[in-house]
Amino acid sequence: MHILITGGLGFIGSAVIRHLVRTTDHVVVNLDKETYAASHAALEEARDHPRHVHLRADICDAGAVQAAFAAWRPQVVMHLAAESHVDRSIDGPAEFIRTNVVGTQVLLEAARAHWAGLEGDAKAAFRFHHVSTDEVFGSLESAEDKPFDETTPYDPRSPYSASKAASDHLVRAWHHTYGLPAFVTNTTNNYGPWQFPEKLIPLVALNALECRPLPVYGDGSNIRDWIHVEDHAEALCLAALGAGQPGGTYCIGPRQERSNLQVVRTICAVLDRLRPDPAGPRERLIAFVKDRPGHDFRYAMDPSRAEVALGWRARHGFEDGLGKTLAWYLANEAWWRPIRERRYAGQRLGTAG
Ligand code: NAD
Repeated sequence: MHILITGGLGFIGSAVIRHLVRTTDHVVVNLDKETYAASHAALEEARDHPRHVHLRADICDAGAVQAAFAAWRPQVVMHLAAESHVDRSIDGPAEFIRTNVVGTQVLLEAARAHWAGLEGDAKAAFRFHHVSTDEVFGSLESAEDKPFDETTPYDPRSPYSASKAASDHLVRAWHHTYGLPAFVTNTTNNYGPWQFPEKLIPLVALNALECRPLPVYGDGSNIRDWIHVEDHAEALCLAALGAGQPGGTYCIGPRQERSNLQVVRTICAVLDRLRPDPAGPRERLIAFVKDRPGHDFRYAMDPSRAEVALGWRARHGFEDGLGKTLAWYLANEAWWRPIRERRYAGQRLGTAG
């Protein structure tokens, strides 16, 4: 089978490609624009694997996307390409609308034309899988509120989540209006190896290793539900390769809620154990900074339905997954050091002025 993946050089897309190359015989065609967030190294052995093809292209470029469909005739599309960092969406929303909304529409149109030309079993088996976030559901206001699930109404509140919500609506519209066999998965905050060091866990870990302040937005009480990227990649592949039904929605989650302050303290404790700092425990570096504008209080997912539908359950507890992740960052300084020096040095983003 040929699988077209968009955004396969990103944090989650690369985990999906590694998983597919390791565990299936399918050919993976990876269409990625190679933004600041892309990393060829993250593909590991898939990078030069005969069943992996890389196409450098922008999902907003209709000609390039149509050419990819014509050349590779995919049976499955997994759409992950996106601008993905909330703070950057506060500083520059236009690129988020362009890639996440317009790019998704371009991809849907190319997929629809390709699917219309298929026949018989190939037409029946075709799937368009759109990868989305729990942030489209808005913010839970207390630790007691019921977690999000497939019935939760949309209420996005950042430029990033609004652009993802728009793309989810487009995917469902293409299913209902044109019959495109598409479905959506929404999941929680991912963490794991190869995550670009602008996101909370690698940012704090690398600052901690360099004895720099560890920025905690507001009072650190905001809660996220943390899924290990390899658990997410496994769920995505199960959905894309058979379990995902046209018109379906799957809320994937690990049931691992932690406050941001808990996350930062755990990072400090693990690093103190793995690489002690002669100056003392790293918690001394915690610095409470001005909150993110419009900072959602809590995201949490009830994954019960998706667990049954996909025959999947997250394997990693948070502390276990975080320990493995921090050990990986310690062992892979050759990857992150040049990024910190040349692409993103850890400066504050998204203050809205
Ligand atoms: P990422 O920022 O690490 O990677 C995005 C990838 O998309 C990069 O390789 C980039 O080059 C590519 N890309 C960006 N714009 C493109 C364009 N116009 N055309 C082609 N390629 C383009 O993102 P990620 O964290 O891997 O997230 C992947 C998907 O999962 C996104 O759709 C995101 O919204 C969703 N998601 C992420 C999380 C998370 O915690 N990271 C959680 C839930 C859902």
